[in-house]
Amino acid sequence: MRLSVIGCGYLGAVHAAAMVSIGHEVVGVDVDEGKIESLSRGEAPFFEPGLPEILTEAIATGRLRFTTDIAEAAHAEVHFVAVGTPQQKDGSAADLTYVDAAVDALLPHLTAGAVVAGKSTVPVGTAATLAERVATAGATLVWNPEFLREGFAVKDTIDPDRLVVGVPFHDGSATAEGERAADMLREVYHPSVAQGTPFIVTDHATAELVKVAANAFLATKISFINAMAEIAEVTGADVTTLADAIGHDVRIGRRFLGAGIGFGGGCLPKDIRAFSARAEELGRGESVAFLREVDAINMRRRDRAVDLVVAALGGSVFKKNVTVLGAAFKPFSDDTRDSPALDVAVRLFGLGAWVTITDPEAIPNARALHPQLNYVDDRDEALRSADAVIVVTEWDQYRRELSPEHAGSLVNRRVIIDGRNCLDAAAWRADGWAYYGMGRP
Ligand code: NAD
Repeated sequence: MRLSVIGCGYLGAVHAAAMVSIGHEVVGVDVDEGKIESLSRGEAPFFEPGLPEILTEAIATGRLRFTTDIAEAAHAEVHFVAVGTPQQKDGSAADLTYVDAAVDALLPHLTAGAVVAGKSTVPVGTAATLAERVATAGATLVWNPEFLREGFAVKDTIDPDRLVVGVPFHDGSATAEGERAADMLREVYHPSVAQGTPFIVTDHATAELVKVAANAFLATKISFINAMAEIAEVTGADVTTLADAIGHDVRIGRRFLGAGIGFGGGCLPKDIRAFSARAEELGRGESVAFLREVDAINMRRRDRAVDLVVAALGGSVFKKNVTVLGAAFKPFSDDTRDSPALDVAVRLFGLGAWVTITDPEAIPNARALHPQLNYVDDRDEALRSADAVIVVTEWDQYRRELSPEHAGSLVNRRVIIDGRNCLDAAAWRADGWAYYGMGRP
């Protein structure tokens, strides 16, 4: 099929290349000239494992190209909209400017019968509004939320665990136009459909809500265990043992029960805030009032990590060398949007510490956001002369490949704060380190 992908960021660039790898012809459109130039050369403009490979292969087929000119998308049968929906600068709602601009720019180029498939995460009700505009061109709007995880985006796009398509509904079932659009999406995702991946056809509102509900659930699970960490901290209990124990219950499960400095990134924080804001607008703010607490618990963990460093250094970090291991919001990503790792570093800097940060992939993004901090590419160089070390992103380079003995040979003082509870506390203590975990004695 002929497809377009409008917005070629973390979601869209992967989607464009992945769609070529399953047989389609794709034009990727973005307003960012630098990104388009880089993608056109076959270079991924951000770090995502596996993306450079599928990008190179896709370009070599001659079925993938990138452009800033949306008119070149006119021939596509399905247009995926994958532009950003960040948090508004002066509020907690989603900023839909980019979605509106993308749809407006696309409208004059839409052909009758084409499908516009929204992939961006949007407040419920957005699709209904956009559908009317898209209908004026004789095209159909569907909402096809994206569940990919950064770091696993290629696999998640080519082989998703479910596909959700919100189509026009009338009286509780899809309209003929909606059925047709759903069939076109089935054709787009033919390998997944053929292997029996759940393909859920629903109305626009449900599809929009599925995405924010999933993110709200995951954020809640993380903040739940972090709330338990707060209780563990005043009782001497160990939250990691607690998580292991409750995680054996199949109804609960161990995943997303890692206590630490909390969640971040370009999705969970802004999505739960936008969900709360939208629920307020709908007069149902109380239904998701708990999400404000989820957010508050999450932000308190950053305070806790900073407090641990301060306490470990005897009450002040002023003019102390603090090495921060990690800047990305999670490993296997260079994404520093709303990164708790970077936030902890910034707060320590604000308290007068001499902060040195290292990260295998995220330094360029971190530096662009916070040029005032000291970045060092080499992990060992970053560790040299540290008075305290804090692990804030659980890269293998820190949790598996850094031995307490080797680190001990580089630092000034053997003080380690494990912001992700990802180290073997006993091993570090046995080597003479003062070890501080999150919610652990
Ligand atoms: P991103 O910022 O990396 O990419 C957005 C891209 O859209 C940018 O390259 C930007 O230049 C481009 N853009 C903005 N306005 C445009 C326009 N009018 N025309 C063409 N391009 C335009 O963001 P992202 O992380 O890829 O997220 C995109 C959407 O997908 C968001 O709604 C996000 O919540 C959702 N999402 C993201 C992920 C993820 O893991 N990153 C996962 C699921 C859903």
